[in-house]
Amino acid sequence: MNILDNLKEITNQIPKDVTLIAVSKTKPVADLLEAYNLGIRDFGENKVQELLEKHESLPKDIKWHFIGHLQRNKVKNIVDKVCLIHSLDSIRLLREIEKQYKSKNKIAEVLIEINIGKEESKHGILIEDLENLVSEVEKCDFVKVKGLMAIIPKGDEESSKFYFHKMKDIWSNLKDRQFSNVTMEYLSMGMSGDYAVAIQCGSNMVRIGEGIFGKRVY
Ligand SMILES: *Cc1c(COP(=O)(O)O)cnc(C)c1O
Repeated sequence: MNILDNLKEITNQIPKDVTLIAVSKTKPVADLLEAYNLGIRDFGENKVQELLEKHESLPKDIKWHFIGHLQRNKVKNIVDKVCLIHSLDSIRLLREIEKQYKSKNKIAEVLIEINIGKEESKHGILIEDLENLVSEVEKCDFVKVKGLMAIIPKGDEESSKFYFHKMKDIWSNLKDRQFSNVTMEYLSMGMSGDYAVAIQCGSNMVRIGEGIFGKRVY
């Protein structure tokens, strides 16, 4: 399978109101350009340096999504470069984003990443810390939360559904309430192996890497 066939198959399965993010980490610029020429405009990267290099060499109408763990000392490098940060996972990171975006008089659009499976190996906040983080977001002037993101634990379809539904419930609950600087537009969940299930469960933003570009070699 090549990028063209992969994209055809995936876009055929994804409803129009679901945003497809092509996760291009580790892949060469030529592959991204191929996807770009097939109409893809949303790309996801998980390393700041790699994102900056690709941002530099590719067309300017690309929307870059930062989907990896974001270190505070790197926030200053991505202001102006990304359309959405998917990985707000602490109050300390929130304060740094507020500070750096304020210094450039820009608004940061972010998703709160939730560690829905409470896995040691994963980033994201625990559900019990969500209200606290939202309260801090309400005090910001340069940060807008646009939704939630999760990477669910590995497991079978039943297990995936359990975590996707859990995320959807948290998302809907926040959506029904009123907070300053918080709107629930995006629910970012689902990757190559489970995006169809994720969409069934309410995802409206899927992040697909290997399913588009083929296996990653590290
Ligand atoms: C790598 C990555 C993906 C894509 O994973 P695939 O299995 O290649 O589709 C999605 N989300 C995040 C946060 C990632 O790091």
